[in-house]
Amino acid sequence: MSFPNQRQQLIDTARRMNDLGINQGCAGNLSFRTGERFIITPSGMHYDEMQADDLVEVSISTGKVIGGGRPSTEWRFHRDILASRNDIDVVLHAHPVFCTALACQQREIPAFHYMVAAAGGKRIRCAGYALFGTQQLSTYVLEALGSRRACLMANHGLITLGKNLQSALNLAVEIETLAAQYIRVLQMGEPVLLSDAQMDDVLEAFSGYGSD
Ligand SMILES: [Zn+2]
Repeated sequence: MSFPNQRQQLIDTARRMNDLGINQGCAGNLSFRTGERFIITPSGMHYDEMQADDLVEVSISTGKVIGGGRPSTEWRFHRDILASRNDIDVVLHAHPVFCTALACQQREIPAFHYMVAAAGGKRIRCAGYALFGTQQLSTYVLEALGSRRACLMANHGLITLGKNLQSALNLAVEIETLAAQYIRVLQMGEPVLLSDAQMDDVLEAFSGYGSD
């Protein structure tokens, strides 16, 4: 079994997703890069029962399973993101309540708060809807992400990316907090958005101390 410590860290992080309330049951999935391959949570297994041996190892170039059983049904977008983004090594996917509520209206999160820039852009886009597990969904997700580290997924949930498990998890918690705040702001009326220039300043300030 390769990468035993990282495998346990992945399981611990998956359980933290549920403890923190950003995921429910076995809906989410999580992967990290191991050179030319990635290790991903298996299909339909509860995180509490998951052991290091249950994780699945998949080739990034071919998408073929190298070790373990059935990977998460969402392995395609994990593979496509890891193949196209050398700046990150972890892909996290979950169905947090507030992010998913916005995604069910196919809304993006605009610059209503400066922390939106934590995802690496002036807004957090919402990827178009396609059936879970499909190549079309993966294509929409890549489009919505661009060079950012997060996107919503229409009528589905959230994806965050990170250099490591902790940074992807932290970003998911941050974006779920922003989604909850944004929904409350909408209840009061139209939010006052920050300007492009104001968000440029935030992005520059974040790049100065490493927002990851
Ligand atoms: Zn999902």
